[in-house]
Amino acid sequence: MMSQRVPPRPASDRRTTQAELFMVDQRDLAVHSIVLEDPPLDFAPLPEVSSQLVVFDFDWSLADQDTDRWVHEVLSPRLRIEFVQKKPTMQFTDMWYVYASNQSAYLLEELHKEGHSREAIEDALRSMPMHPAMIRGVRTLQTSHPHTDFFLLSNSNEVYIQTILPSKGLTEPPLFKEIVTNPAHWEPNGLLRLSRRISPDGPQHSCRVGCSANMCKGDELDAYRARHASSHYQRIVYVGDGGNDFCPILRLGKNDAAFVRRNRGLSKRILEEGGVQCTVRYWSGAWEVEQLLRLLSAPASAST
Ligand SMILES: [Mg+2]
Ligand SMILES: [Zn+2]
Repeated sequence: MMSQRVPPRPASDRRTTQAELFMVDQRDLAVHSIVLEDPPLDFAPLPEVSSQLVVFDFDWSLADQDTDRWVHEVLSPRLRIEFVQKKPTMQFTDMWYVYASNQSAYLLEELHKEGHSREAIEDALRSMPMHPAMIRGVRTLQTSHPHTDFFLLSNSNEVYIQTILPSKGLTEPPLFKEIVTNPAHWEPNGLLRLSRRISPDGPQHSCRVGCSANMCKGDELDAYRARHASSHYQRIVYVGDGGNDFCPILRLGKNDAAFVRRNRGLSKRILEEGGVQCTVRYWSGAWEVEQLLRLLSAPASAST
């Protein structure tokens, strides 16, 4: 890596520091910066296209939080701590998904045992942060470019997403043409039961990039493209943050783009593993994504 860490400078020398920030390799900065309230802007124009697909990851991408963790942070700090403690030894899928018939995800069962009702969980979900600039950005793009489709591809679950989206005004009118995530439903007693997108009982995905057992996001993206082949998208843009967003981004081509959140699993994998063909733009806050989404607008509205 050619770039170097930005050396500390006195506060009186901010202009130099800012100038140096623009010299830093974006990929390096996306991994090594700790706090970046005013990051270097990464808003160079993108080509105009007549049709495009915008794919959103949900946790820490469209939403400014992680759904699984958030529910426990709000309702049961004990379980949030237990999540961290068990993480090194317990499979992600065992913590959150059915790992034997008639057995529910461990943490959700514990939440239920603590007496948290369906209504309490739904209230917690509706209070989950989603930045106004993110909502403004997607709605502006939707109205300014008539041939833009939005696809939500998330390793969260149906109940979480279908509770949160309406509370943020993103279902009337619908933003997403399709939503692919893990199935979930409420039991009559108020227990939330999740299952894997790929059932443990059937054929498993063959991804070698490191996707979790319940979903290969690269396969899901390819399947979406096959379902909508008649749309002839000229460009696919993927907005993501996590390590499991690396697989679909590897499947994008030179005309496509990825809007990647700094300092999270995806930016690390791009730096360390390489092989990404598409244009990569980095962001820290939703206000930056709003500007990146403006680059996708149709020509008539691009200058407003
Ligand atoms: Mg994510
Ligand atoms: Zn995969």
